[in-house]
Amino acid sequence: MKTLFNSTLELLKENGAEYADIRFHKSDLTESISTLNTDINEYAFHDRSGLGIRVLYNGAWGFHSTENHSAESVKNCAEKALEKAKSSSTFMKEKIQLAPKEKYIETYNTPINTDPFTIPTKEKIDFLIELDKKLSHERFDYWGVNVTFYKREIFYMDSEGSEITKNLLEIDASFFASAQDVDQQKQSRNFILFQEKEGTVGWDNLLSEKQFLQTERIKNELLAVLDAPECKEEICDVILLPEMMALQTHETIGHALELDRILGYELSYAGGSHVDLEHFNELQFGTSKLNAWADGTLKCSPGSYGFDDDGVKAVSVQLIENGKLRNAITSRQMIVEANKKANKEIFKASGAACRAQSYSNFPIERMNNINVDFGNDGSIEELIKSCKNGIILESPKSWSIGSNRENFHFATEIGWKVIDGKISHVVRNPTYRGDSLKFWNSLERVGDESTWQVQQVFNCGKGQPNQVMRLGHGVPVCLFKDIQIGN
Ligand SMILES: [Zn+2]
Repeated sequence: MKTLFNSTLELLKENGAEYADIRFHKSDLTESISTLNTDINEYAFHDRSGLGIRVLYNGAWGFHSTENHSAESVKNCAEKALEKAKSSSTFMKEKIQLAPKEKYIETYNTPINTDPFTIPTKEKIDFLIELDKKLSHERFDYWGVNVTFYKREIFYMDSEGSEITKNLLEIDASFFASAQDVDQQKQSRNFILFQEKEGTVGWDNLLSEKQFLQTERIKNELLAVLDAPECKEEICDVILLPEMMALQTHETIGHALELDRILGYELSYAGGSHVDLEHFNELQFGTSKLNAWADGTLKCSPGSYGFDDDGVKAVSVQLIENGKLRNAITSRQMIVEANKKANKEIFKASGAACRAQSYSNFPIERMNNINVDFGNDGSIEELIKSCKNGIILESPKSWSIGSNRENFHFATEIGWKVIDGKISHVVRNPTYRGDSLKFWNSLERVGDESTWQVQQVFNCGKGQPNQVMRLGHGVPVCLFKDIQIGN
């Protein structure tokens, strides 16, 4: 294939292309298993292979893809991509330019311990059914386990001389139970597999007592919610546990700092941003305790992929430094345009955050691992002890967000009221709301390393047509001061 791709790229250059790349998904495996009430609910297996060719001609993109890998089909695909770029170029007001990048001839592999695709399907199903059984309870209406394994082998080549092979593996695993509460309202508790900091990706993560087998805890929490009093309306401290910190970071830092959104390109799905180009190095996004990163190098997370689909090597970029806004989530194309618009060099190099869902999608700016540094305000117990009147919140139930990410209203599956430094009781239907900047400027305590966890996200949607992306959030437990809850 390499020779064929090389000659295709050469041909495109001879025909006037300024730049071209080929992304070949040699294999793209997905295996999903779900159980419901101790029975198999669904089993699916797909292998979706194919290739996409992107061409820049006279400052305009053209893209075409095919599932057929024959020499004739690849040639035809390249011709179509070039044709599209040529016709787009006649409508372009501003020519697209790409920031420089280095040339790489490298391979990136997700660190794997036990490849789940080597485990017999029956063994996987038997294990999940056994786990499912542990979730059942006479008060529960529904319970189940959902697991999807993803494995991709991707070969990338571009007209600037890069040749990159990627072998990527990710596991999206969760379980849940749901029941009716004292008011006949549905309540659920979900648990989502997180990524061990020092671990590898693999089937063995599901066998870990430390996390995926915590069925008793989840059941007990749901039982407590069913009979708990409603969350009262008040202003108090909020302690966000990792799943909620991940959502908070995703919605109000991650999406708000995608540079294409800042430039006004992504207006669907609450796609604007309250951040402007003049805010960089000026705006106090949060308190001095807030340090956030777009880190494509975090070990084992679904947001770590070695190289993005621009062929840029993954890096870690500090987005927010001691509360001050420093950088954005960027690609080769957008930083050139943003610097031009701002009339100064805000962005020095691509943050390697240009990704496509599959070979048949055009890559766009996507968050990778948007992480918040842990701090030195102690363990969860110490954070609780420091809180006079507050609430601990965990697991997203519903979320709504302003169209420019300027404010939010989130509901969580469970809350624990804290009074005088001690957990008092569980509350039902907890919610909290705030203005994004005001909220991050209320960040008062940041938990230490023992509270830091890599939450995995497999359902981030963006773009038209929609592309679903996988990523992670390494986040500590945090305490925010004087937040509106319960309405
Ligand atoms: Zn998202």
